[in-house]
Amino acid sequence: MKAVVFEKFGEAPTIQTVPDPKPAADGVVIKVEATGLCRSDWHGWMGHDDGITLPHVPGHELAGVVVAAGKQVSRWKAGDRVTVPFAVGCGRCFECTSGNHQVCEHQTQPGFTGWGSFAEYVGIEHADTNLVRLPEEMEYATAASLGCRFVTSFRAIVDQGRVKPGEWVAVHGCGGVGLSAIMIASSMGANVIAIDLTEEKLEFARKIGAVATINASTTPNVVKAVKQITNGGAHMSMDALGHPTTSFNSIANLRRRGRHVQVGLMLGEHARPQVPMDKIIAFELEILGSHGMQAYRYQAMMDMIRNGKLKPELLVGKKISLDEAPAALMAMGGFEGIGIGVVTKF
Ligand SMILES: [Zn+2]
Ligand SMILES: [Zn+2]
Repeated sequence: MKAVVFEKFGEAPTIQTVPDPKPAADGVVIKVEATGLCRSDWHGWMGHDDGITLPHVPGHELAGVVVAAGKQVSRWKAGDRVTVPFAVGCGRCFECTSGNHQVCEHQTQPGFTGWGSFAEYVGIEHADTNLVRLPEEMEYATAASLGCRFVTSFRAIVDQGRVKPGEWVAVHGCGGVGLSAIMIASSMGANVIAIDLTEEKLEFARKIGAVATINASTTPNVVKAVKQITNGGAHMSMDALGHPTTSFNSIANLRRRGRHVQVGLMLGEHARPQVPMDKIIAFELEILGSHGMQAYRYQAMMDMIRNGKLKPELLVGKKISLDEAPAALMAMGGFEGIGIGVVTKF
């Protein structure tokens, strides 16, 4: 099969012909019909993720058709249209059996712990536990765009952030994660403030539901601005970018008993940012992480999509071919354009 391969961290990936994957006994092989481009792929390529062994095929936001299933697989067969969360649970450990596959102790991640979906085919283990059936009307590009940023935002806003109608929600960073969060929180009846450095992204944020925006490049004190708009601070706030400044602001702009959810990855030199611990105690703040979403929780999100309350297709950006993926991957270190780039030609 054709795949995007990198042999060394930070060196240009190339298109190569590599052996086709074979299904594990409890796994499937999926013909990839669409795969999203994500900043995590860039981090992996740069060598920020110590789970990767070289040579490596990146890609973790995928949708496609099952072409082969192992003997132990009972729920899936060739021809099924599916997607999969980026954190694939083993289905057997304590976390999985208690319903928290997103933090499975033995999780595999396509494109990180093994070869991913920047290829014509990808193998996924523990298929019965992790595959998600696509609604018939959903396009592959939209389905691929859900797999990482949209589902992580869904879990961050709904399950971790526990956002309620009428609450103020601040979203720091309007890339794929941030825009997803804005759409999801707005659909739940929250008042969302979008914060970003570019007017273009803020304008898009308003279109998908933000009631207020703050341009951090022209606002000297973002925390003060959030407090003014919300009359005291946000109930829930998210760092969707993953930077010491946005993380700090997201905690500092909370009102008493507010919830901060960290979704943007903090890697390398940013892994241990400053947190205002004094304020966390005095205000009884909650600091939460959000790491993907369990396959069984997709149903609630799919129902909201089917009923038109969520429109993830609006967040799909540029569609490119696999041949264009190496250059696009290397460019992910800069700030993303609007929407989620997706490879749709293989
Ligand atoms: Zn597990
Ligand atoms: Zn991702």
